[in-house]
Amino acid sequence: MTVLKHLRGGVSSVSAFLKETLNFMFPDCCMVCGKLADADDRFSQYEEFCRAYYGRPSGLHMCGKCLSSFAPNDSDRRWMFCLSDPYDGDPHPDLPLYMPLSYEGAAKSAVPAVKFGKKPALAGFMGCLLGTCLKSDSVHADLIVPIPLSASRMKERGFNQAEEIARPAAAVLGIPYAGNVLIRTRDTDRQTELKGNLSRIANVSGAFGTSEEWDIRGLSVIVVDDVATTGFTLHEAAEALFEAGAAKVLCAAVAGNRLAKNAEVY
Ligand SMILES: [Zn+2]
Repeated sequence: MTVLKHLRGGVSSVSAFLKETLNFMFPDCCMVCGKLADADDRFSQYEEFCRAYYGRPSGLHMCGKCLSSFAPNDSDRRWMFCLSDPYDGDPHPDLPLYMPLSYEGAAKSAVPAVKFGKKPALAGFMGCLLGTCLKSDSVHADLIVPIPLSASRMKERGFNQAEEIARPAAAVLGIPYAGNVLIRTRDTDRQTELKGNLSRIANVSGAFGTSEEWDIRGLSVIVVDDVATTGFTLHEAAEALFEAGAAKVLCAAVAGNRLAKNAEVY
């Protein structure tokens, strides 16, 4: 069944299937490129963090080549504005969007590997990286929250990649993580499958609310997703947080495909 599912998806899915099979047969294969992962001393610090934080090894396997391409951009290229609807005006035009990596190379391969290859350990690594970058840029907040996954996608995937990223990021920053502040008010299509800004805006418009269990009035909140392209999803989530009384919101993703600097908003 799994074979058929992959074959139906075409050549890229076949290669994903081969990688998955390789990983099953050789669990030490790199979780990003599928090649045999050599032991790399650079992971020792990360292993220490995982043992301290999770009380177990990271479960991460990555070759030195992929690890090297997870190099964050310079600090001044990590900050952008988060997009909302550029046509009707934005109530929060200065909403900051933080993305330390460009969505290319290993980062671009890692995101689908996490989601479709079901590799939360890889998301954990990216979360640690995001937290380390935020810390090095002296970012602080009262709370970190992930973008929630719809119930149907959670059932299909078994984990929420944004949670797996946000939790270690919070640990690195030493601030509380709250997984259930944001809630999905309805299911949405995958943003990457939609063409054009208007359909992407419509897809996520009003898709988030906040849980009544939380009082976030006056708090500064970091909302985390795996990747940001336009930033519409994060912007909608931020709107829900502002609605619930958050004083400040920072949108953050591990990687993004907007290479423009801060001054070039769109
Ligand atoms: Zn690799």
